[in-house]
Amino acid sequence: MDKTIICAECGEKFIFTAGEQEFYAERGLTPPKRCKKCRDRRERERKEQGR
Ligand SMILES: [Zn+2]
Repeated sequence: MDKTIICAECGEKFIFTAGEQEFYAERGLTPPKRCKKCRDRRERERKEQGR
């Protein structure tokens, strides 16, 4: 079942889908705290800083 998570960064609700939950569980990962938008942005920022 899909879950709704509140993003720790922007406070927006986002869907943590059943498929994603399975993906995370299989890899022993903890559920995301941030929405995809914020995760993408952080990743981009990290890459840009590495230049
Ligand atoms: Zn967010």
